[in-house]
Amino acid sequence: MDANRKKTLQLSISRTMRNLEANNMNAAYAETKEDALKLVKALIPSSAMTASGGSVTLEECGIMRFLREETNYIDRYGKGIDKEEQRRRDGLIFLSDWYLASANAITEHGEIYQVDGRSNRISNLAFGPSKVIIVAGYNKIVPDLSSAVIRVKTVAAPANAVRLCRDTYCAKKGICVSPRHDEADLMCHADCGDDTICRNTLVMKRQQEKGRITVIIVGEELGY
Ligand code: SF4
Repeated sequence: MDANRKKTLQLSISRTMRNLEANNMNAAYAETKEDALKLVKALIPSSAMTASGGSVTLEECGIMRFLREETNYIDRYGKGIDKEEQRRRDGLIFLSDWYLASANAITEHGEIYQVDGRSNRISNLAFGPSKVIIVAGYNKIVPDLSSAVIRVKTVAAPANAVRLCRDTYCAKKGICVSPRHDEADLMCHADCGDDTICRNTLVMKRQQEKGRITVIIVGEELGY
């Protein structure tokens, strides 16, 4: 990366971390995805009961592999898990020690913006598991919530809809059916289709329990 761009990016990351801390979240920086994995390993004891949301970022960092192979990971995504068993595991995940996910966007004001289809991820992020770790590449940082909404509608959701083989407008066109940000366009529209991955939205601002959430920002582009 160009040295000038790197300098302004570091300033943006510092602003974001400072404001996350002001919102009662721990903030850490990892230069590479390998460093992010080391940080996660240092935080989570091997005996811990862990769980995660589906995440390309966690896969790219090798964190999913670590969780599956070296912790007591509650897997709700494995093959052969029917709806009833998934529901049972969702109950266990609610009581787990550590929950890991990435973010759809993180604002420089120290807010985390998440949009879900099923919404198991945003439920666990908001309340339930004792500790939460959010890992995100620098590409998830945006100036404010308006930019976060646009980021999801133009980058994150279309790519995730393709990844998850959803029959949505954005999977076909590469952009949301309503790629704007105003009150009328914040949530999913009926003409997006029943396969929508934008049913519920979570904005994580100042947390009541200081330090429940740790955000690791990585100096690499990860996920979408
Ligand atoms: S509301 Fe529908 S079309 Fe828009 S990003 Fe979400 S899934 Fe895609």
